[in-house]
Amino acid sequence: MTAPDFIYMDHNATTQPTEEVVAAMTASLRTGWHNPSSIHRLGQAARQKVELARASVAELLGCRDRDIIFTSGGTEADNLAVLGSLAAQPKRPLVVTDRREHAAVREVAEHLEEAGREVAWLDADDHGRIDLEAFERLLAARADEIAVVSLMWANNETGLIQDLEAVGTRCRAAGVRFHTDAVQWVGKMPTNFAELPVDLLSFSAHKFHGPKGIGGLVVGRGARVEPRSIGGPQERNRRGGTENVPGIVGMGVAARQAMEWLATANIAALEAERDAFEQRVRNVVPDVVVNHENAPRLWNTSNLGFPRLEAEALLLLLSERGVCASAGAACSSGSLDPSPVLLAGGIAAEVAHGSVRFSRSRDTTPNELDRVVEVIAAVVERLRASMPA
Ligand code: PLP
Repeated sequence: MTAPDFIYMDHNATTQPTEEVVAAMTASLRTGWHNPSSIHRLGQAARQKVELARASVAELLGCRDRDIIFTSGGTEADNLAVLGSLAAQPKRPLVVTDRREHAAVREVAEHLEEAGREVAWLDADDHGRIDLEAFERLLAARADEIAVVSLMWANNETGLIQDLEAVGTRCRAAGVRFHTDAVQWVGKMPTNFAELPVDLLSFSAHKFHGPKGIGGLVVGRGARVEPRSIGGPQERNRRGGTENVPGIVGMGVAARQAMEWLATANIAALEAERDAFEQRVRNVVPDVVVNHENAPRLWNTSNLGFPRLEAEALLLLLSERGVCASAGAACSSGSLDPSPVLLAGGIAAEVAHGSVRFSRSRDTTPNELDRVVEVIAAVVERLRASMPA
């Protein structure tokens, strides 16, 4: 819990930087603020901090230090993966992705479409995972045209986990580059880039208790991306701009702490806690729908649909009673449209309208989860009592 009177269940939006992250960043701003490109000793001390942090992040991701391009976060990394892949392979004009990607990929693809490029949108199967047969047909027909297949590892709204292995091995066999947005995965689940059939992987520090405004793209062997930020020779000529030293230092500490946590984390027990939480909600709200219940999902995310209720009203009342949650939809003219991500995943509009995302962290306690269930019960009862029969 962060603020004294709130239970924060919105960790997929952002997480609290740890004390150690804040301390390391403060020290970096106070005394280690020099430019890592400077030749003098002070500059070289800053360079050393950046490279130590890079080594920590590389260890968390299971990649080589040199594979990492630091960026301003997940959005820039996603943009660089898609647009940088297109620019690096002029003979391959086609982008393949999913309508449920984060806006940092989806909107890039939509912009490309508006500009006259072709985008192939992947279909989902009955559980919300990619339809592999349709994907195979696409690869068989058009592999030579594809600049990049971009598919997120875990979905930020639903926690749905895609079968990266299945998609990636098909891409490898077809000689097609594969990017995954792993922003919601990294830090919560073990990651070993070297063993994945993935060429490009995006991550962001503020989703694993690091600072905002820093993240990166892992670029595997042979997957060159054309820079999008052109300037100085930083990041081995792949992303110009003076490094965000305090951000990088903070991310390095967050990476170390995530690794320490992952070393002893019992993911199966956390999944069981998620299921028990959902079951307890079901006990008090029998018609609740657990979105993508039967698909593999992140242990920290429960996207719950309350039929006939509005997500916005639920969120406001939850917040009034001290529970911070989210709906995965933009607020337009005071009302929440049903999340396009849920609709594209096959969730009925009536359920999507009243769907709320509860996302915990590694520090969320069983008592807090109990309290959240109580508050959900009270809020749903109050809203239902005010509805016409
Ligand atoms: N991709 C996913 C899946 C996300 O959840 C987010 C953040 O909400 C992003 C990308 C964007 O990351 P950032 O906020 O670091 O730009």
